[in-house]
Amino acid sequence: MISDNIRREADGTLTFAGHSVPVLAEQYGTPLYLMDEERIRRNCRLYLDTFRECFGSEALPLYAGKAASFKQIYRIMKEEGMGIDAVSAGEIHTALEAGFPPEKIFFHGDGKTDEDIRCGVKHRIGYFIVDNPEELEQLAAEAAEQGIVQKVLLRITPGIDPHTYKALTTGIVDVKFGVPLETGQALAFVHRALSLPSLSICGLHCHIGSQVFDESVFEDSIDVMTEFMAKLREEFGYEVKMLNVGGGYGVRYVDSDKLIDIPARIRRVAGHLKERVQELGLKLPFFLMEPGRSIVADAGMTVYTVSSVKRIPGYKYYVVTDGGMTDNPRYCLYGAHYTVLHADRETELYAVYDLAGRCCESGDIIQPTVKLPEDTRRGDHIAVCTTGAYNFSMSSNYNRIGRPPVVMLTPDGSYLAVRRETSEDLCARDL
Ligand SMILES: *Cc1c(COP(=O)(O)O)cnc(C)c1O
Repeated sequence: MISDNIRREADGTLTFAGHSVPVLAEQYGTPLYLMDEERIRRNCRLYLDTFRECFGSEALPLYAGKAASFKQIYRIMKEEGMGIDAVSAGEIHTALEAGFPPEKIFFHGDGKTDEDIRCGVKHRIGYFIVDNPEELEQLAAEAAEQGIVQKVLLRITPGIDPHTYKALTTGIVDVKFGVPLETGQALAFVHRALSLPSLSICGLHCHIGSQVFDESVFEDSIDVMTEFMAKLREEFGYEVKMLNVGGGYGVRYVDSDKLIDIPARIRRVAGHLKERVQELGLKLPFFLMEPGRSIVADAGMTVYTVSSVKRIPGYKYYVVTDGGMTDNPRYCLYGAHYTVLHADRETELYAVYDLAGRCCESGDIIQPTVKLPEDTRRGDHIAVCTTGAYNFSMSSNYNRIGRPPVVMLTPDGSYLAVRRETSEDLCARDL
């Protein structure tokens, strides 16, 4: 199986985190997002335990909330002792509503509005990760007005290509995120930031991309960032106290994807950082990473009910479901791959189908070219695996379709974390 929390039982039915998928589909209805709570916690602990082993108390993993953002996930992050990344006032509000401590929130984003900045300062969130000079000036003014000194990390673009999907690449020079080193703009950015008395410049941030499998991406960015740290000391006598190297470890969506040994990777990154700072005579900074996908992706599964099966002689076969690009736009957006399984039965006889959604777009394909039983028919349940990241959080109401509920699975049972969106919900803002 693509993930070890998925099993095929002797009677052919699929289980996820020890629960029967067809039974959950009947109980909660479809389309349905399932999340394996133990897996989320285990994934957090991979980071937390290895960080402690390598850095003692001088490191913190931040969950990148954009991967899946709802109250229960923030309660879990709080219980596990994670920090979080937020990219909007909405994510911050959700985390605070869930009782997440504001001082452990890091506020990201390349397009923070005045309102976002005011909201972040007002709620005394721990750190702003400032993306650009305009934001820097606005934040300095807002912090001064509210009479506080705001802690800040500065986002730098190190100029590294992680060789992932183009849409998921963020660390090369020519992107909309951060301030590039190569052009000298980053140096001026730090210089200006250091002159602003309402800001406390704690350190630097970079993020190279997402769904990254390359062995040495973090080591490469550490090389670039530590050299920049040495330069800042030389030019301004400024010592970087915190270094955040972003998120991005890839997860397995299909059999051809590697399984990344996260603790082993982190140990290597930690060793590399320690070596580099020693060589440059720098102090070891407080270390941060921002995993999103690798915390929640393999904890998720989406379950659909088949509406129709179209067998077009001489052309393709389609399985049409009760969901689609509204609950999972990732294939439409950038051709993302998924493993698709029949949830009710196995067979010797398979056919190849495009798994399609119900939206009024020919491009509404959840996944092309999937193998499913030849006799797949209306009423059958289909599972799409590894949908815990960037599915719920990217969902939409296109065609006025309500979003699916999120059901958490535990060893003892299951519970609703987000209820299904109703037709009344859809009209709630209409005047
Ligand atoms: C998206 C993002 C992350 C998380 O990336 P994953 O691939 O989900 O681990 C972390 N930091 C920043 C700045 C991001 O944009």
